[in-house]
Amino acid sequence: MKISILTLFPEVFAPYLGSSIAARAIESGRLSVETVNIREYSTDKHRRVDDYPFGGGAGMVMGPQSLFDAIRDVKKRNPAKVVYLSPCGKTLDNHIARSYADEDGLILLCGHYEGVDQRVLDELVDEEISIGDYVLTGGELPAMVLVDAMMRFIPGVVGSENVHEEESFEDGLLEYPQYTRPANFEGHEVPEVLLSGHHANIRKWRRQKQLEITQSRRPDLLNDAKLTKEDQKLLRKIGAKTIE
Ligand code: SAM
Repeated sequence: MKISILTLFPEVFAPYLGSSIAARAIESGRLSVETVNIREYSTDKHRRVDDYPFGGGAGMVMGPQSLFDAIRDVKKRNPAKVVYLSPCGKTLDNHIARSYADEDGLILLCGHYEGVDQRVLDELVDEEISIGDYVLTGGELPAMVLVDAMMRFIPGVVGSENVHEEESFEDGLLEYPQYTRPANFEGHEVPEVLLSGHHANIRKWRRQKQLEITQSRRPDLLNDAKLTKEDQKLLRKIGAKTIE
């Protein structure tokens, strides 16, 4: 998977791409990431990439010239889908992240200032993705979030093949609580069932916790979750209101 990130601040990606799982994914060849400085494509003598918005208003807008040239050039070596990180986009979730992991490449466009000229979006951008209902100063953090969420679905990037199966959102529910050694920390005990070695009871306890946590924190998820009859029974027991 080849990712090209178009940005005015390529330097902010180095610490992230050089650490932990991203670094290992790159080293193993499962992921390749290039950062492209949009400013280098500006034909302005001062390398300006932004200008005042037509019609007035606050802030500056990234103009079309450097963006058209940068995207067209990058497409020659990475003929991939262009994704603009934007608060106006579809909200990123695991389904979207997983679908991007199936692509051979991606081009991520990071905005700055008040955003980018609409003609860039109309002509060259395939999708707009938001990382949540808040406004950041630039698209760099959202691009890193997207890369991180997506690369976990590239086979071999995270340890075991079935690591996703029990994680939050996989079956539409939040994850159950996790514990590790020691079994007693300053008087705080790990739930007895987890020490019992009784796998069926452990599975049941974890499922019940998933349902309880999802019901109390994100009841909206229950509407689309894959629930068994047993789950429905447990939910009724804990007083949940689900759409049957
Ligand atoms: N004027 C824009 C608006 O109101 O929608 C906000 C522009 S924001 C200050 C600058 C850049 O940050 C955007 O072009 C986008 O690339 C990025 N950005 C900010 N918030 C974001 C979010 N929630 N998700 C994805 N990208 C975001």
